[in-house]
Amino acid sequence: MLAGIDLGGTQVRVALARSDGRLIASFKTKTPLLRTPERMVEWAAEEIERHRRREKVTSITIAAPGPIDIKKGVLVNPPNLPGWRNVPLADLLRRATGARVHVANDADMAGLGEFHRGAGQGTRNMVYITWSTGVGGGLIIDGKLHRGAHGTAGEVGHMIIDPDGPLDNCGQRGCLEAMAGGASLARETGHPASELFKAAASGDAHAREVVERAARYMGLALISLTNALDPELFVMGGGVTRSWGLVQPTMLDTLKSSPFIKPGRRPRLLRARLGDRAGQVGAVEWARINQ
Ligand SMILES: [Zn+2]
Repeated sequence: MLAGIDLGGTQVRVALARSDGRLIASFKTKTPLLRTPERMVEWAAEEIERHRRREKVTSITIAAPGPIDIKKGVLVNPPNLPGWRNVPLADLLRRATGARVHVANDADMAGLGEFHRGAGQGTRNMVYITWSTGVGGGLIIDGKLHRGAHGTAGEVGHMIIDPDGPLDNCGQRGCLEAMAGGASLARETGHPASELFKAAASGDAHAREVVERAARYMGLALISLTNALDPELFVMGGGVTRSWGLVQPTMLDTLKSSPFIKPGRRPRLLRARLGDRAGQVGAVEWARINQ
């Protein structure tokens, strides 16, 4: 059997599957309740043991927020898991379960989930983008997850949109995340991003302007990604896509405004289908591929 674990700042979700990837059980808890990495591993191992139905779980993938050392399976210092520094997550879970364990980037896993079981089914070249507090991504090239030389490919949030733009947490200026991420929009407007999108939906002119500008930046990123990777499809997930009707037309208009990207090679743009489950579903797929 296989297991996929999605370790987020607010929730930990676990999915169990047969070796062909078919899900048979899933369970979750709130991350802060577990407090330490050791306790999280203990909880996950116990739940897996309880649900595995006499069969052995041989391959597990943990989708975790970056930065990650994917070779060693170590969580370096994820900003949304304060106190979890240099955690040897793969070793801890391997010891607790006896399974082969991989640690992978959460956006990569969400992209892989959408590719195999969600909006990306049937494609070969797809870019997944999560647009939420931050902006992340996962690249599927020729039917495979592309992780790059150091496992950091697909950091679409750190494409520079404006070299004179605001300073991003990563140290660069004018990153897509600093120009369009929910956290930066909240900083700029003084309201949570969810309120900003609500105000825009109800016709507030200033909120609309801020949202449209952010969607335009995202559209510019789609142009650059299309030129770099020639995908057939963009799949977009994350909290901002709850306001799809507000952002999709501007993103698409921006993409269409490129005279260089002729309609014949213009990728489609779809909303993600798996919602909060994308990470765990993708982690199961990665466990299947690497079993
Ligand atoms: Zn950045």
